[in-house]
Amino acid sequence: MFPSGGFALENKIFKAFVVEESDEKSFAGHVRKRNLTDLPEGDVTIRVNYSSLNYKDALSATGNRGVTKTYPHTPGIDAAGYIEESSEGQFKAGDPVICTSYDLGMNTPGGFGQVIRVPADWIVKLPSGLTLRESMIFGTAGFTAGLSVRKLTASVKPEQGPVLVTGATGGVGSIAVAILAKLGYSVTAVSGKTDAEVFLRSMGVREIISREAFTKDSSSPLLRPVWAGAIDTVGGEFLATAIKSTMPLGVVTCCGNAASPQLPITVFPFILRGVTLAGVNSQSCPMPIRKELWGKLADEWKFDRLEDICTEISLEALSEKIPLILKGQLKGRTVVNLER
Ligand code: NDP
Repeated sequence: MFPSGGFALENKIFKAFVVEESDEKSFAGHVRKRNLTDLPEGDVTIRVNYSSLNYKDALSATGNRGVTKTYPHTPGIDAAGYIEESSEGQFKAGDPVICTSYDLGMNTPGGFGQVIRVPADWIVKLPSGLTLRESMIFGTAGFTAGLSVRKLTASVKPEQGPVLVTGATGGVGSIAVAILAKLGYSVTAVSGKTDAEVFLRSMGVREIISREAFTKDSSSPLLRPVWAGAIDTVGGEFLATAIKSTMPLGVVTCCGNAASPQLPITVFPFILRGVTLAGVNSQSCPMPIRKELWGKLADEWKFDRLEDICTEISLEALSEKIPLILKGQLKGRTVVNLER
């Protein structure tokens, strides 16, 4: 009884994108047949209809031991689908659910497989305003954008001035831009993609700054205060420049390190301007906030152009997309349809 009318789970066999390590210590992913007995013990078995490609999946798929310790392994930190079996009373077969973060796709077989088995407390019921596919257009990147927006908007209001988003065409960045624009903020984007103007304007961006222009002449301990707040997704000198050019009492969020894990900065923006640096970690987000955020993404934060940021692929196409996300070359979100 699967409302999606999806694939048949014959002989307990399903398809998964499995990353294997060769004798030469190189890593490659292949679509393989897996058996339900390959999955770990867990409260809930879910047939996955959609997953999505996140930066962390690309790290897992290329042998990053900080993310995944042992191979062969099925990445995929995001999954959305229907419950097949549950030993926990709050879920029943056929319920549409979302499972993101915790250990999914890191050291637990993840959403790049047509079936996952996980603890019940990793799961959120699909909110009524979202389809399974839409939930994966958001995915962990959208959830992280939501957490960042939540931290910024708690103290920075639209009338205080423009807000900045770095890595603006990426998964987290593009969704942060769209939510902030929908909430009435004037958004300035930093992007390295010279062909991204039409895309970024369609998401609601007012101004676009190239990566080079943003970080040029940014070596002083303090810069002219321009931003009421900022959402940084890339770290390094981009985060440092955002903090140094934020107005007194502004908030800058930090979630990623696509540019660098370093933060080359002095204490002056904090002690002379009272700027707050707010860390964002989606993986450890407590369940009450997780439910609140999914509710907002399904309702007041859901934006009209959600489909426009989505590229849909099959499991077979993951191998081409993984190197591109590592090079920062993808735009928006890549959704994996596991029924294709
Ligand atoms: P994407 O790859 O989709 O987007 C990252 C964007 O950053 C790129 O599209 C590019 O945007 C920009 N970028 C890439 N490389 C560089 C570089 N060398 N210098 C400057 N800018 C660069 O990734 P996501 O948006 O999904 O994730 C962004 C970051 O957030 C990653 O580091 C990821 O690991 C992290 N993350 C953290 C989470 C948390 O809980 N803390 C959860 C989810 C993600 P453009 O071309 O427009 O400049």
